[in-house]
Amino acid sequence: MTRDRVMYWAQIIGVGPTSTYRIPRKEMVTNSYNRNYRFCGLCRETKTIIYQGKLKEEDIIHELLHFKFPKISHSNVRTITNILLRILEE
Ligand SMILES: [Zn+2]
Repeated sequence: MTRDRVMYWAQIIGVGPTSTYRIPRKEMVTNSYNRNYRFCGLCRETKTIIYQGKLKEEDIIHELLHFKFPKISHSNVRTITNILLRILEE
């Protein structure tokens, strides 16, 4: 499921093959002041989305957009992510 969604969005955004790595729970350090925090980022060198817990659709799009358009701000990436989610997932 996750792999399919990553492949789907990687094709639409035009970034090519992208892998994912879910950080195992035993490797996590508990963040006592914000238990709801979930890390999600992309390793540019290996083109791997690295995440904790569940990888959401918006996380995939967000990280792939940062990879494809490194100069676009985080705020604009969020805006584009929301637009893509709305128009392509109806
Ligand atoms: Zn961002």
